Amino acid sequence: MADWVQRQVAKAPPWSDEKFRAMQELLGPPPRPAEFVRWRVRLYCGHVRDVRRSRGQERPAGGITDHERCRECGLDPSVIVAFEPLVGDG
Ligand SMILES: [Zn+2]
Repeated sequence: MADWVQRQVAKAPPWSDEKFRAMQELLGPPPRPAEFVRWRVRLYCGHVRDVRRSRGQERPAGGITDHERCRECGLDPSVIVAFEPLVGDG
């Protein structure tokens, strides 16, 4: 499914500046970095990663975000089994 979406998006013609601006207005401004919280998560495969979540989330796991693709071993999805917030850097 994700591959199909990527193929369809790749086929789409590039947007004009006007269309891009209209879409930006529709979606509102992009989230600022201050609206994100960073977490250090331990994945099911045993590897540790830093991830970013919006500030409103009380934990990095839950719903569609309870797993990550592991960049180290490639396990996808790898379920988040433990996490701690990262403070001070960002
Ligand atoms: Zn891994």
